[in-house]
Amino acid sequence: MKVAVFSTKSYDRQFLAAANLGHGHELVFLEPRLTTVTAALAAGSQAVCVFINDTLDAAVIQAIADYGVQLIVLRSAGFNHVDLQAAAARGLTVVRVPAYSPYAVAEHAVALILALNRKIYRAYNRVRDDNFSLEGLMGFDLHSATVGIVGTGKIGQCFAQIMQGFGCRLLAYDVQPNAHCEALGVEYVALSTLFAQSDVVSLHCPLLPQTHHLVNAESLNHFKSGAMLINTSRGGLLDTQAVIEAIKSGTIGYLGIDVYEQEEALFFEDLSDTIIQDDTFQILQSFPNVLITAHQAFFTRNALTNIAETTLANITDFEQGKPSLNQVHLQGHS
Ligand code: NAD
Repeated sequence: MKVAVFSTKSYDRQFLAAANLGHGHELVFLEPRLTTVTAALAAGSQAVCVFINDTLDAAVIQAIADYGVQLIVLRSAGFNHVDLQAAAARGLTVVRVPAYSPYAVAEHAVALILALNRKIYRAYNRVRDDNFSLEGLMGFDLHSATVGIVGTGKIGQCFAQIMQGFGCRLLAYDVQPNAHCEALGVEYVALSTLFAQSDVVSLHCPLLPQTHHLVNAESLNHFKSGAMLINTSRGGLLDTQAVIEAIKSGTIGYLGIDVYEQEEALFFEDLSDTIIQDDTFQILQSFPNVLITAHQAFFTRNALTNIAETTLANITDFEQGKPSLNQVHLQGHS
């Protein structure tokens, strides 16, 4: 099958080409993001293969369907960026990679916690500058600290296992409690209780209409003063302006984010020679207790191998007319 692969970086090409050896599809690697402007690049392909910051709104879906595309292949687990209604209306099938390495994302959340708590990013720069002072580098023991996990699915569960190893007290909130987490000793509580009691809050739920701006001016009122907030899930879970105010007031003592609501204009590109126009992002960057990574939590060789293999298998299954467990269905439809 001919597949237009959008938002391709060198690593995507490397892992997808290797996985394709066993499938033999015609992969057309394209650097641009999929938008209404670049949709024409899909002409003649039966499938588009896309990542999280490609646009898959009704207009783009309309355009690619007109060019003959029948299949949207997501190289991600999250599908909040796809207008599933529009895809269903045009008869396009959507498939995804539901799990590729929950460990990668959970471990990155822990990396953010440790780096922020022990101020590793500041220490690294200081020592390189022959400044061996410890002033301002004090952290706290994670042992016995209370960690609140919002969303205890695949990633949240891995995160709970790691944090249990640190000797933390674990609280969680999820619309569907996870028996493995309960067996680990995780205590499910109301979201406001989790916010009120946690020294560290880590978000691992999907971005849905119900979870959009889950952390906002009102919910921040419940947070423990000086709490650490970690978001490796989706930028839209935070009302960033409200979080900035909470950092200024000291309610949020540390912020670690791998995702940002307006990240599609920034992440995955080298913009070091340009002037960033996003003032909100620049304000966040200016705080000494904020650590931002550019959506790299998934980025391990294990995860990229799994993403590539599942992506190619999804394409082959569709071509062979096999039903796929990885198909994304419009809610209420099978
Ligand atoms: P998952 O589907 O296994 O788990 C999600 C959990 O969230 C489920 O237990 C679900 O019941 C819960 N949930 C749903 N609605 C909720 C709500 N309103 N409040 C609280 N919990 C709710 O998903 P996962 O594989 O663990 O991934 C979690 C999220 O991580 C994804 O949705 C994605 O946005 C993000 N992610 C980020 C990266 C990255 O590189 N930064 C990579 C992969 C996934």
